[in-house]
Amino acid sequence: MSPAGPAQAQGRILIVEDEPRLSAVLRDYLQAAGYVCRQVFDGAAAVPAFLEESPDLVLLDLMLPHCDGTDICRELRRLSDVPVIMVTARVEEIDRLLGLELGADDYVCKPFSPREVVARVNAVLRRHRHAPALGRGLAIDAAALRASLHGRDLGLTPVEFRLLHALAARPGRVYSRDQLMDHLYGDHHAITDRTIDSHVKNLRRKLGDVGEEWVRSVYGVGYRFEG
Ligand code: CA
Repeated sequence: MSPAGPAQAQGRILIVEDEPRLSAVLRDYLQAAGYVCRQVFDGAAAVPAFLEESPDLVLLDLMLPHCDGTDICRELRRLSDVPVIMVTARVEEIDRLLGLELGADDYVCKPFSPREVVARVNAVLRRHRHAPALGRGLAIDAAALRASLHGRDLGLTPVEFRLLHALAARPGRVYSRDQLMDHLYGDHHAITDRTIDSHVKNLRRKLGDVGEEWVRSVYGVGYRFEG
């Protein structure tokens, strides 16, 4: 990733993949799609490269030398909300990955079609950039801690507001209850899963007809926003 990259770059991608041939294929396709890429071939180099480059998205292989992709994903999540797409060798891994509550934005299985990876990268970045789902009547005023739907104030409590704000900022992304509790309270030692569920219930009720449709339960994991 150099400053001499294309002026109209779509964004910068950090590719963490230890198989040089696969990494080169990803790089070539992403570059052809207008992205600027930096490749890292070793797990231990992933987080330092992330900190150095501040990429717009990380493509992260699961099986890496010296450091597991799941640990890297956790560390990236702790450091930032950069979109992460995990690459895994087996389709069956995806359920396990979701269960680990890593906070990745999407998953791609090997063997993959590079075109599909580019399409996923485009989709995740689009979702991330056009964050709050304001196109469907929802307006969020973070400064005033107020949200309205088609101009009608939802009358959210501060906790409900933070919940909606966190979910709506990343439509499609699955949040575990733990992650939501971190967003809502920071220190949540006294809070139970059920507290989150009851805030979700109240938030859905205040959203009215679209409540169930927008704030989706993800079985065994948590919630995601589908605004
Ligand atoms: Ca690998």
